[in-house]
Amino acid sequence: MAQALPRNVELAVERIRRALGTAGCILDRDRIAPFEVDFRALYHGATPLVACPASTAETAEVLAICNDLGVGVVPHGGNTSYCGGATPGEAGTDVVLSLARLNRIREVDPANFSMIAEAGCILADVQSAAERADRFFPLSLGAEGSCQIGGNLSTNAGGLNALRYGVARELVLGLEVVLADGRVLDGLTSLRKDNTGYDLRDLFIGAEGTLGVITAASLKLFPRPRTIETAFLAVRDPAAAVELLARLRAATGDAVTSFEYLPRIAVEFTVRHIPGVADPLDRPFESYVLCEISSAREDPALRSILEASLEEAMHAGLVLDAAIAESIAQRNALWRLRESVPEAQRAEGASIKHDVAVPVAALPEFMRVATAAVLAIVPNGRMVAYGHVGDGNLHFNVSEPVGGDAAFAARSSDIQAAVHDIVRRFRGSISAEHGIGRLKREELARHEGPLALELMHSIKRALDPKGIMNPGKVLAPEAAPQSSKESRP
Ligand SMILES: Cc1cc2nc3c(=O)[nH]c(=O)nc-3n(C[C@H](O)[C@H](O)[C@H](O)COP(=O)(O)OP(=O)(O)OC[C@H]3O[C@@H](n4cnc5c(N)ncnc54)[C@H](O)[C@@H]3O)c2cc1C
Repeated sequence: MAQALPRNVELAVERIRRALGTAGCILDRDRIAPFEVDFRALYHGATPLVACPASTAETAEVLAICNDLGVGVVPHGGNTSYCGGATPGEAGTDVVLSLARLNRIREVDPANFSMIAEAGCILADVQSAAERADRFFPLSLGAEGSCQIGGNLSTNAGGLNALRYGVARELVLGLEVVLADGRVLDGLTSLRKDNTGYDLRDLFIGAEGTLGVITAASLKLFPRPRTIETAFLAVRDPAAAVELLARLRAATGDAVTSFEYLPRIAVEFTVRHIPGVADPLDRPFESYVLCEISSAREDPALRSILEASLEEAMHAGLVLDAAIAESIAQRNALWRLRESVPEAQRAEGASIKHDVAVPVAALPEFMRVATAAVLAIVPNGRMVAYGHVGDGNLHFNVSEPVGGDAAFAARSSDIQAAVHDIVRRFRGSISAEHGIGRLKREELARHEGPLALELMHSIKRALDPKGIMNPGKVLAPEAAPQSSKESRP
């Protein structure tokens, strides 16, 4: 039998229903179900209501009601987060707030190289709107057909073009945010320069919905790339990949847009599990790079520069073999291979994932030390370390041994702790681009310095004094202050 809701939650549901009407509320259990679980099915929560406001004003109303009654609100974008950030708590008392109906492109300004998009716009639609105005919005990731720009900004997503254009934070000019109490912070400017006081915008980017709800963003656009060269390279080892990156950046005048590392096992997984994916090279190698260089000009010289650089790198023993895309279809096939690694890895059974960053030059040494540490814990674990090497960001994943191993999942926290401790020794990050959510909340508390944590809690209290915004995500509850009696010797 379903448990009765606490009175404040019941009242919040009633008031939200009245404010948004039936079009703005999902109450049907079957339709609510997808909002109660993250896409990896790691977290299962419950909610009495999914609120679907169609405007900033309606979003503000929902938050004012929930703040008034002390009810938790979980912002929900495309639900592609890897860390359970958009899943409500198990108690069944948080309201989910879907941004899906806030999906208008409010303005595209080609002369200012900017656009204003509402939070619920799908990332691929934002890219297309820019393209229709002969402009380029560079944020790109495997989930771009379903993730939303509001979710991308709330997780400060990185993706495939961060090397050249920066992560999501660097692509934002201004934000419109509804605060926990329902007031609207209108910071939707399109200015490149604005030094008026503290940068409030940056507080909400990467906050994973714990400080407010992003309802719209003013975004930077760029000239559209006219020449793109894509190459799939076998490299000697990770150190060769890092050296090749530096050489290509110099030779092309910093035109390297993407530089993705793949180990052999990732290619094998995709060829085995993803229909239509084939090994781009004739024979197997240990390590690969998928590299893209681009120019906003029609620039035939780019191809010759790439070829000359690769030839030099082959002489130096860094590159062992290469395939350069000759058509858009071939380019798409190479990217399909790279982007389907997560799906292919899922098909190989359980895995333990790390989203880490270290300085680019330290990557080879990090990989050596961290691989040894993982294999000391699970000797038959399969290392699948791949990703955005150009940004120093690796998805340092471990797949379970062939045929499965009941003990593998039980070692998950030992493995995670070992990898994260090594990351710390390299002055790296335990969450390079995916965020903290539920998954790494305790790890954040373990790794972040006490002063940084204290400041984060102060900001949370200042912006969300009742703690209604995405409860239980990012920050672990603060330890109760010691009583004066306890603190005395
Ligand atoms: C195949 C695949 C490939 C991926 N590749 C990458 C990659 O290369 N780089 C990368 O960084 N990530 C990647 N991701 C992870 C994921 O796509 C990103 O984290 C993405 O930015 C999440 O967007 P979303 O709309 O799905 O957000 P959700 O999952 O819905 O939410 C993420 C967090 O943001 C909060 N939130 C959502 N919308 C708002 C809002 N409007 N206001 C306030 N808070 C909000 C939620 O509460 C939650 O905490 C990938 C995921 C998949 C499935």
